[in-house]
Amino acid sequence: MKKDYYEVLGISKNASSSEIKKAYRKKAIQYHPDKNPGDKEAEAQFKLAAEAYEVLSDPQKKSQYDQFGHAAFEGGQGFGGSMNMEDIFSQFGDIFGSAFGGSFSGGFGGRTSRSRGSDMRIRVKLSLEEISNGVEKKIKVPRKVQAPGVNYGTCSACNGSGQVMKITNTILGRMQTSSTCDVCSGSGKSIINKPLGSDQHGMIKKEETVSIKIPSGVEEGMQLKVEGKGNEAPADGISGDLLVLIEEIDHPIFVRENNHLHFDLYISFSEAALGISKEVNLLNGKVRIKLESGIQSGKTLRLRGKGLPSLNGYGTGDLLVHVNVWTPKTLNKEQKVFFENMIDDDNFRPDPQSSDKSFFQKVKDMFN
Ligand SMILES: [Zn+2]
Repeated sequence: MKKDYYEVLGISKNASSSEIKKAYRKKAIQYHPDKNPGDKEAEAQFKLAAEAYEVLSDPQKKSQYDQFGHAAFEGGQGFGGSMNMEDIFSQFGDIFGSAFGGSFSGGFGGRTSRSRGSDMRIRVKLSLEEISNGVEKKIKVPRKVQAPGVNYGTCSACNGSGQVMKITNTILGRMQTSSTCDVCSGSGKSIINKPLGSDQHGMIKKEETVSIKIPSGVEEGMQLKVEGKGNEAPADGISGDLLVLIEEIDHPIFVRENNHLHFDLYISFSEAALGISKEVNLLNGKVRIKLESGIQSGKTLRLRGKGLPSLNGYGTGDLLVHVNVWTPKTLNKEQKVFFENMIDDDNFRPDPQSSDKSFFQKVKDMFN
């Protein structure tokens, strides 16, 4: 049985995002590998806290977790799961970065680690049509890359081990501790030839076009990860990831609600009275719908499967067509006479049946 994420961080379900962050920082420092060298239990706790934080710090994942518990991440969506130490430091390093060093390497003491480039974040704006079909976007990203002609060699301060040994005399005797090499920040490599215009690690900024495949059904606020397309690392380090934040462009006629789409259809007074067949736009194509004679304003027609596909590929939302009957704002003489004659006519007198639910009844149904 997996431990509850709120319990892992020692917080209540109503904890605010800053409380979540604070709780995680506390746990991360308590179980940090630098403080607990060789302690497997501490390492497991450290990883578990990071996993809990990864989920609870992300509003989308948090709400999925609140609804479904750990089962929310067992469908292979790539959320949660086991994280390795490198992931934890690269993702959340900034949270405890001030407590522990490691900017160049992104690593931690007590172990040699390959340096890792930092992650980059970009926003991508998508139309509902693009979300419906899925889309491949080519985006210019100003990445940090190794400058042409840069050369790296073995760090002379640590002989490439990334660690330096320190011997200190204490009242308990001589103690030997190892710590991350200051010169190379643990990567074991140092720069030999620094090309003009590059930074102290031999890196330059370069605009590169990255192609991003966006699956259909994504939502505002979701984040996709393109592995290895973030900033490059110096020497033989590994590149960071490109994190793509999804933004939705408002659609001129459709309003999205999860995977359903809402659409306001306006029909004339005569069309409502006589009944009509109408063509309705979809995100992809059109569909013809039939409105019975005597249809009431406020009626909603549900077109099953005409909404957006769900991200995990199970099912498609519906299109909800809300019927609005347009009352004429001006009448000519002839029309005026006609309606005046109809005012006491039985057919024109409102006589709502139980099937013609009022707005308030519909709202009441929604909450029951
Ligand atoms: Zn070194």
